[in-house]
Amino acid sequence: MSAKLIDGVSLAATVKSQVRTRVVELAARGQSIRLAAVLVGSTAAGELYAQRQGEGCRAIGIDYDLTTLPATATFAEVSGTLKRLSNDPAVTGIMLHLPLPAHLDATELQYQIDPVKDVEGVNPANIGYVFYAHTLIAPCTALAALELIQSTGTNLRGAEAVVVGASQIAGKPIALLLMQQMATVTVCHIATRDLVEHTRRAEVLVVAVGKPDLIRAEHVRDGAIVIDVGINRVKNRDGTSRTVGDVAFEQVREKASFITPVPGGVGPMTVAMLLKNTLRSAELLREIQNSKFKIQN
Ligand code: NAD
Repeated sequence: MSAKLIDGVSLAATVKSQVRTRVVELAARGQSIRLAAVLVGSTAAGELYAQRQGEGCRAIGIDYDLTTLPATATFAEVSGTLKRLSNDPAVTGIMLHLPLPAHLDATELQYQIDPVKDVEGVNPANIGYVFYAHTLIAPCTALAALELIQSTGTNLRGAEAVVVGASQIAGKPIALLLMQQMATVTVCHIATRDLVEHTRRAEVLVVAVGKPDLIRAEHVRDGAIVIDVGINRVKNRDGTSRTVGDVAFEQVREKASFITPVPGGVGPMTVAMLLKNTLRSAELLREIQNSKFKIQN
């Protein structure tokens, strides 16, 4: 059996088009959406990423502002910028580009972002809401993994789901969202003994580690849905390089029923989820202004 590909590019395009339709509706009512991004220290890669993000937002009618601070910016300066944006009524969403210069603590700074404007779902308040199954805004990669799984039509209720990787940004929130869907969830990490014992039970296997070829055919149950979150650059024999995931794609696709490619799976869907979250932040703010909804910090 050869697995069906879960096409993240095409699913992401559908999500973006749905977001765009709603953004246009809101704009017609005079409600604009503005994402403010903060980039500390300008590297060519960081600026290019921010530029692409700006283009992606504008393409679906979302305004995008980038504030660039020098690599020498102090904690107080970055924190002050995030607080100013949090208090600016024209700004409906905020994100802090990572990585930050080594002297800045990302988690401490993410804590300064208003939870309702936190489009990446990284403020501890938002993680807490996911934990309590009252999700306001969940982390984009976790939402992407869930959307890709659900696109297969599988029923997660009672399903054996195994998540390999337990990071704050990927593994843990993915596990929480799967639990919310009533899957039976096992989380594996660097200290897990006998990884294969766990992974080969999985009807749904999500891998978010950052190690090429960690998951091979022997790790995978026949007919599993395999979601590869990993992004790794590896060298080809001729000295060029390519992007691969954590899953040995060619051998695993022979056992799985559905599999995400890398690139073209979780990556583009994560970008789409950021846009969906940006819309959600704007809608939540509007609900709060209309006093239909109250958030407790
Ligand atoms: P991380 O380094 O923060 O966490 C890695 C996790 O893997 C840890 O929980 C660790 O315990 C676990 N781990 C390490 N070695 C292991 C092993 N041999 N067996 C089992 N578990 C092991 O990484 P991260 O930020 O969660 O990112 C993981 C991967 O996902 C990276 O390749 C990253 O580039 C990618 N990523 C992709 C997206 C996306 O949008 N597609 C988003 C975030 C991260």
